[in-house]
Amino acid sequence: MIHRTAATWQAPAGKSASRWQNELADLIRSPQELIALLELDPAQLPAALAASQDFALRVPRAFVERMRKGDPDDPLLRQVLPLGEELQAAPGYSQDPLGEADANPHPGLIHKYHGRVLLIVSGGCAINCRYCFRRHFPYADNNPGRARWQEALDYIAADPSITEVIYSGGDPLNAPDRQLAWLTERVAAIPHVKRLRVHSRLPIVLPNRIDDDCLDWLTGHGLQTTLVIHSNHPRELDDSVGAALGRLRRAGITLLNQAVLLRGINDQASTLAALSEGLFDRGVLPYYLHLLDPVAGAHHFDVPEAEARALMDHLRARLPGYLVPRLVREIAGEPNKTPIA
Ligand code: SF4
Repeated sequence: MIHRTAATWQAPAGKSASRWQNELADLIRSPQELIALLELDPAQLPAALAASQDFALRVPRAFVERMRKGDPDDPLLRQVLPLGEELQAAPGYSQDPLGEADANPHPGLIHKYHGRVLLIVSGGCAINCRYCFRRHFPYADNNPGRARWQEALDYIAADPSITEVIYSGGDPLNAPDRQLAWLTERVAAIPHVKRLRVHSRLPIVLPNRIDDDCLDWLTGHGLQTTLVIHSNHPRELDDSVGAALGRLRRAGITLLNQAVLLRGINDQASTLAALSEGLFDRGVLPYYLHLLDPVAGAHHFDVPEAEARALMDHLRARLPGYLVPRLVREIAGEPNKTPIA
């Protein structure tokens, strides 16, 4: 096995940064800038600054352009604007709600479920979602580098029960294509690995990420490939997102969506139905609707289970079955996600 150095993952000399990389370098990271751009009440600033100390604000401009000006309750804004509520402790909420620290046998690899492993391909995200269950994850300890990736690859190669490799993060599409191509080539060379699954929010928040270089490594191997996108609200699905999803679909990639049920964002049956229909219009099947993971700082997004079940009843009454996502909860130590309704 050849271990490449970091330098070989850089763009070749003479090749300029891609459009998406320029957008990634130009994220909005300052609560002041976001509040000013959206013409929000500056009185929100002190709380936003305080909460962003713990978990920084990061949001692509392409996503902010879909937000309504002057509306502090905009469902896209609510997912990214730090609020004072995040600083209040809540019983039952912790830094590692899914017990991932106990399922991390090698840096960069999480083995929770039979037959599949997660590779933490990138610790970064283009967007910091305030409800993220990994908002306290020790990414600095899970940044294996080229040489240490071999430990994770050896672990997969030594366990013939592992038939699926899942790229996760952070957001795996935050990583450079050369790194992803390098890793995918080695994953695909393990004979018992049949499927590659990529979980990413980038096709939604930074759709220019789906360019030719990305499609090359996503399709340039013998693995069945699924991309699980993460969209929570129908207003996230604009024309640019539709174009990115169309490219993925035409490349033969199976597209699924997972969403998180979030108070004040998508806790209405009409919103969830519009999300399912908007996804399907763009070739994506609604897959999971997650109940909120109890991560410290996110309790204000919680929708109680009984209310979630009632929402699912409404959805089933108005949508065909294939447009109704499965409502699930992830429980630390359980061998699979727990179906709720
Ligand atoms: S994109 Fe995913 S991993 Fe990144 S902050 Fe949002 S929910 Fe968390």
